[in-house]
This record gives sequence, structure tokens and C-alpha cells, in this order.
Amino acid sequence: MRTRSLVVFLSCLLTISCADGASSKAVPESRRVPGSEGAAGIGDQYFPKSGNGAYDITHYDLRIRYTPSGRAIRAVATLDLQPGKRLASFNLDLVGLTVDRITIDGARARFERTGSELTILPRQPLRRDQAVRTTIRYHGVPQPVIDPAEENPDDAVALGWIRSRGGDVYVVSEPTGASTWFPSNDHPADKATFTMAFDVPDNVSVASNGTLEAGPVRQGRRVWNWEMAQPMATYLATVVIAPMREQRTQSGAGIPIRNFFPPGSYDDAVRNFAPTGAMIDYFSGQFGPYPFDVYGAVTVNHELGYALETQTLSLFGSDMVGTDLDAELTVAHELAHQWFGNSVGIAHWSDIWLNEGFATYAQMLWQAHRDPEFDLDEDLAELRAGAEKVLTRPRDPGRDQLFSTAVYARGALTLHALRTTVGDDTFFAILREWTKKYRYGTATTEDFIAVAESVSGRPLGDFFAAWLDGDAVPPLP
Ligand code: ZN
Repeated sequence: MRTRSLVVFLSCLLTISCADGASSKAVPESRRVPGSEGAAGIGDQYFPKSGNGAYDITHYDLRIRYTPSGRAIRAVATLDLQPGKRLASFNLDLVGLTVDRITIDGARARFERTGSELTILPRQPLRRDQAVRTTIRYHGVPQPVIDPAEENPDDAVALGWIRSRGGDVYVVSEPTGASTWFPSNDHPADKATFTMAFDVPDNVSVASNGTLEAGPVRQGRRVWNWEMAQPMATYLATVVIAPMREQRTQSGAGIPIRNFFPPGSYDDAVRNFAPTGAMIDYFSGQFGPYPFDVYGAVTVNHELGYALETQTLSLFGSDMVGTDLDAELTVAHELAHQWFGNSVGIAHWSDIWLNEGFATYAQMLWQAHRDPEFDLDEDLAELRAGAEKVLTRPRDPGRDQLFSTAVYARGALTLHALRTTVGDDTFFAILREWTKKYRYGTATTEDFIAVAESVSGRPLGDFFAAWLDGDAVPPLP
């Protein structure tokens, strides 16, 4: 969530490095059988080149070596890939960086690069439904991309692998930054499990998704092994490499919490994130069990202007942390995304209200829970009253309105209107059925409407059409 002004980043030129040696030799025309290649995009109307057609990645194993005093990474990505049809070639998304060598089940494969597309040509076409393992060795200095979801380029933030002060690194990728640091099927429709190993000097720590096993120090370096055992969208993969102190605690109900904070702000951060455990337990009661093995926050020494719900480890800019209510609600917002957006993911970006409207409504639920004086109905009625001009339709808002107030606020209003229409018990039963039915998967607005109709036993098509697609904001019931 973004509650303060955005930091403006200088745009950086993308340098696409070309493969060298034998690997880059032109592919014989005879191999280019029309229809036997995978598409360059997965079919998202907002980001036509994101993701790739005709296969599914089930697991990413990333091994990345980095030294803060340098700039380059040296990496090996091993992708388990399940073709959906016979494939003479297929694409991955990769921005910049130099690819050194690619193998498929151990056999060297040719490849080509055009813009953000990496096209791989296996020796033999891949057979439909036969899983293969693709190993990609690559290196170079990752270059962030400019947020394509921002209307005003001057406000656009840099996405992807970002090297900040003193060589510290943090990664924020929503929507399309993952391909700046690993070759990927960079679209939320293709989730996968992840193992990530970061080899760094022993004076920095590495925070990433899932659970940690840190290796021993050898010759001044340490390998940090992170495992994300439940499926994750590529934009939710993160890593922070910086001097940090880890805090371990747990929620009242026993969900493990590990936080990573810069040593200089550790004590303040511990205080600021103290409500996390109570929030996890409260949301688990309302939305269904917390979907992952662990949770926590990582804060970066950088005024990012927003926070991101990176899976199991939400990432906060230094300007998002504080003792005020806004900061606490941001903590609740990012946590709520673990159910809405992360465990239940979106199948295309135009359904972004399923993430942001839900997390915004959840933060309001937390506000009402923690403060009996706070009147949720009144608050939403006020929001509705001021809504007329600003809150355009939240479903399919347009690529440069993905993170607009309309999506967040009218999305939340839609849920409140649903609650008022079907009643509290039914409303929370709908949310719990939603998180259960689509746990670890992806779903669409149509799927949500179907769940709401089946749990409530009412036709709700017109209700949702008015709230999500109409120009006018309907009155609250
Ligand atoms: Zn959000």
C-alpha cells in the first residue's frame, strides 16, 4: 500500500546483452515450424509480453552469488517445466543480464534474445506433458525496469532487483519486475514453488520468502538457503541483502514470525510491528487459517513510498514504518494480502481489485477490531459520499490505473456493500470459502461472484456488475 508520495527514480536504460559463441547461432529455418513454438506472452491484455504460453513452471531453484562492493550477480536458475503442447521452442522473460549457457535435461540448448524475451530451442522438440529441467547460467548487473503501471512516468518507481546505498539490495517486482533478476514465466497465472540460495559475504544478511537454513561461514562468505514450499507468483519473490538483525517471535496461536530490520532502527521496528501476531490470529478467524508456514516483515533503508506483500515476508520502505495509525494499517494491509492476492492469486492483472479491494477492506476490519470507537459503517458511508467523481470502475481499471484509489477504495466499498446485502455471517462464510476453494491457486472475478452466489444462495450478477463495472458508484445498501 502506498500512503505517502512516491519517490521518483531516474530512468535507466535497459541494456540487452546478447549471447555469445555457439549458442547464439541462428536457428535453422527448418526448426521454425509454425505452431510448434510457445507464445511470447501468456495473453494478459495489460502486459502482452509478460509470461509465456504453452507451458507451466512448477519449481524455480535460484542460486545467486553477490558481493555488495561489486554490482554483478552470477547465477544459475533451474526451472522445472511442464510443456502444455509439443514445443520446438519456448520463451522465458529476462531483462538485461548475459546468458552464458542453457541446458535442458543436461543437453546443451540454443537460445536467442529479443528485448525481454529469451527464446530457447531444445535439440529435440519437447513432448507434451513430459516434464523437463532447464538450467540457465547467467550473470551481469541487474537493471531495474520502470513501473509500467504508473500513469505519470515521473512518479514511476523502479521495479525488480534494486541496488541501493552501499550495495544493499532489495527486490520489489509488482507487476513485472521479476524478470530483472531471474529468467521466469513472469505472470501471476503461473505460480511455482521456489528454492533460493544466496551466496554473500558474512557481514550482510539475506531475507527472502519462506523458511531459512543458513549455511556455515566459509572464507568470509555464507550461503542463505530459503525455501518457499507453497506456490508463489513471480512478482511476490523478493530478496533483501543488507546488514540486518532478525527478530523471532510468534502469534498467540503459534504462527512463527521472523522479521528482518536494519540494526539502526531495530528497536523502533520491533515496536512498530508488534501488532502483527494479533493481526494474524484475528484475520485467521475471519478469513480462514493463515495459509503459509511463517510470516514476517522486512524493512529497507530506503524511502520506497509503499509496502509490498511479498509472500510470507512483506517488504516495507523506511517511510512506511512508524507509530501512527497509517503505518499500523499498512501492516494489516500487507498481511491480509497473504490470503488475498498471494494464497488466492489473480489469473490476470485486470482483476487486481481481488487483491487491493480485499486488503483495503481487511485493514478497515482491523481498524474496527482494535478500536471499538471506530465506526466502520460511518467510515465507508463517508468514503462513498466522496466517491462520485474519483472512483471509476475497479474491475479492469486499465494498465496505468492498476494501483489507483478507485481499485483500492471502490474495491473495499464493493465488499462492504456485499456484506450489507448478505449479512455478516454469510459474508464471512463467503470469504472463508473463497480462501479455501482457491488456496494456493489463481481465480477470477467470475469465480468470486460464483462463490458469493453459491454461499449466499442469491443471484448477485447485477449487484457485482453495478459495483465493479458501472461508471456510477452505486449507493450503499
Ligand atoms: Zn495492497
